[in-house]
Formats: sequence, structure tokens, C-alpha cells
Amino acid sequence: MFSESPIKRKLTKKIWVGKVPVGGDAPIAVQTMTNTLTTDVEATVAQIKRIEQAGADIVRVSIPTMEAAEAFRLIKQKVDIPIVADIHFDYRIALKVAEYGVDCLRINPGNIGREDRIRAVVDCAKDKNIPIRIGVNGGSLEKDIQEKYGEPTAHALLESAMRHVDILDRLNFDQFKVSVKASDVFLAVDSYRLLSQQIDNPLHLGITEAGGARTGAVKSAIGLGILLNEGIGDTLRISLAADPVEEVKVGYDILKSLRIRSRGINFIACPSCSRQEFDVIKTVNELEQRLEDVVEPLTVSVIGCVVNGPGEALVSDVGLAGAQNKSGFYLDGERQKERIDNSDIVDTLERHIRAKVNKADETKRIKIQNIS
Ligand code: SF4
Repeated sequence: MFSESPIKRKLTKKIWVGKVPVGGDAPIAVQTMTNTLTTDVEATVAQIKRIEQAGADIVRVSIPTMEAAEAFRLIKQKVDIPIVADIHFDYRIALKVAEYGVDCLRINPGNIGREDRIRAVVDCAKDKNIPIRIGVNGGSLEKDIQEKYGEPTAHALLESAMRHVDILDRLNFDQFKVSVKASDVFLAVDSYRLLSQQIDNPLHLGITEAGGARTGAVKSAIGLGILLNEGIGDTLRISLAADPVEEVKVGYDILKSLRIRSRGINFIACPSCSRQEFDVIKTVNELEQRLEDVVEPLTVSVIGCVVNGPGEALVSDVGLAGAQNKSGFYLDGERQKERIDNSDIVDTLERHIRAKVNKADETKRIKIQNIS
């Protein structure tokens, strides 16, 4: 039971990162970045597969050396998800990964150096239809901009971004997206606001170096929540000092909270108190773990007693309202005759949820068959 988000998104120019559209009316793409050694092909491929399974649309891989570019060639052959190559300065690496089928280059044209080198990269990107991401970061602004502004400010980040944008404009290249990340929420938000007023290319959102799993998720949710609510942003990456799979999950949680994208189960659960008729926290944690593989969007409410249980269950696909010994059970907002034994909640709910998911999959299959 998902209602549409009231957010009106700015209509940006659509570009393609491999098979994934970014910008325009495309869904806001969720990205993350590998943290394995790129030269360790096996470990990187394994991590990318986990990232893909978690629902990421795009993955970024850092390519610091030519050796990493050679590893990239092998990695690319073994995965399906579009890959963005993260490159700093060395234009030869950009040309190499382009030759090996990269889906996007994250490189700042202003950092490449000589004009002929910039032109070589941009011509190659044009030739092979590879978009570029300009990535400005509050922590690594150009020296002259740092001196001009004294400290990273939103206008400083904007000026840096526009410098790179102007180079691409001059070379008639418009297949690019831009990020202006900062670790400070206010600075990042202000920078993205300014940039969004200046260009119509897609924006890649992120609070950089946000922190550990919990603090980083909170910081990112606040920063990105403000921007997304203003209709700004076409793709996002949550930067956590944690497993990249967590970044993907948090990204989706932010989009789900704003009803922008749905994937998997949206759990509604009460915090529990002495009125609870079963252990709410244990039940929800176990269900979340067991149902991690579910992709179908579904709202499931697990509420400890009748104070809020029936009300939440009415607006859920599957609902449980705690009662003594046997709790009330709801499907599609309707109370069922069946009551669920409080000693068997997790197994029974999992069974019902999976049955619902299978039914939805079946309906989708029939619809597709009928269309084709
Ligand atoms: S719904 Fe019931 S059990 Fe849950 S927090 Fe509220 S009063 Fe407590």
C-alpha cells in the first residue's frame, strides 16, 4: 500500500549510465562504491554481486593505476551492473577503461591537465557514448578557489563545479552529471541548491565521509532528505564507513521514507512498551533478517497491542495487532478470522508475506505474458 510521493522533482536532462537512465523521469538511482582492492578481481566481483543483490543500480570502482584498469577489464566481463570508474588526474587510465567498456567516467576535466589530454578523454567519451560525472568535494577544492574563499563555502563548491562544467560545455559535451559533496550537511545542501539553479544536468547527491553506519545514515538522511524534498537529485550514494551493502540499504530507506522509490518491505513497528503482548523488537528484527531477499514493495505492520495495532494494520498489506495469547491478523487492511498464536508470530507472518509476494509475482508474470 504505497501512495505517491507529494514531492515534485526538478526535470533534469536524462543521461544513460550503461543500461540505467539517470535524470529526467528516471527513478532516482541508488549507487555505492566497492572498497576492495580493485586489483583483487575475485574479491571485487564478489562484492559487486552482493551490492547488485542488495538492489544497487550502479556501482563505482576506483581505478588508481593501470594495473587496476587491467583488473577492471576482467571485472567488467563478470558483472551486469553498470560500472563508474573513479579516476583522478591520469587521462590514460580513463582512455583505457573506456576501451574496456566502462559505463561512466568519474573524472574532473579541470584536473586532467593539458588541453589535448582533456580533449582526448572527452572525444573518447563522445565516441563511445560514455557519460562523465564531475565530482567536486569540499575537502579537495582547487588551491586558488580555497585561497579566494578562505574556506569551503557553497559558492566555492559551485565555482569549482562550474569550472569543470564550462570545459565540457566548450567541448560540446553534455552527457554529464555533477556532484558537490561536503561532509557538513548545511554546506552540501546549500551547494546542491546553488548548482541546481545553474544547470539542468542530473545531480548526484551525497554527504561525503558521512561517518559510521548509524551516524552516517542519520547525517545522509537529513542532508539528502532536505534536497530530495525540494525536488533536487537524480542519483545518490550514501558514504558510510561500513559495508557498501549497508550504503545501498540506507539509500533505499531514504527513498522509501519519502515514498520516492519502493523496494522490499516497509516495516511499520511500534517501539513497544509494557503493554506489548509479544516481544515486538525481537519479532521485527527477525522478520527483517529473514525477509531481506524480498524485492516486492510491501507494507507490513507489527504492533504490540490494540492501542495502535488495528489502525496501522488497516493501511498495511500485512498487519499484526498484538492481543493476549493470539494476535489479530490483517491482510490488505482487512481483519482476518485467523488469529496468530503469539508463540508462532515470526514463522506465520513470514509464510503469509511470502505467499503474498509470490502472488504478486504471478500477477506480474501474467500481465507481461498478456502484453507480449
Ligand atoms: S502500540 Fe501498544 S505496545 Fe506498542 S508502544 Fe504503543 S502502547 Fe506500547
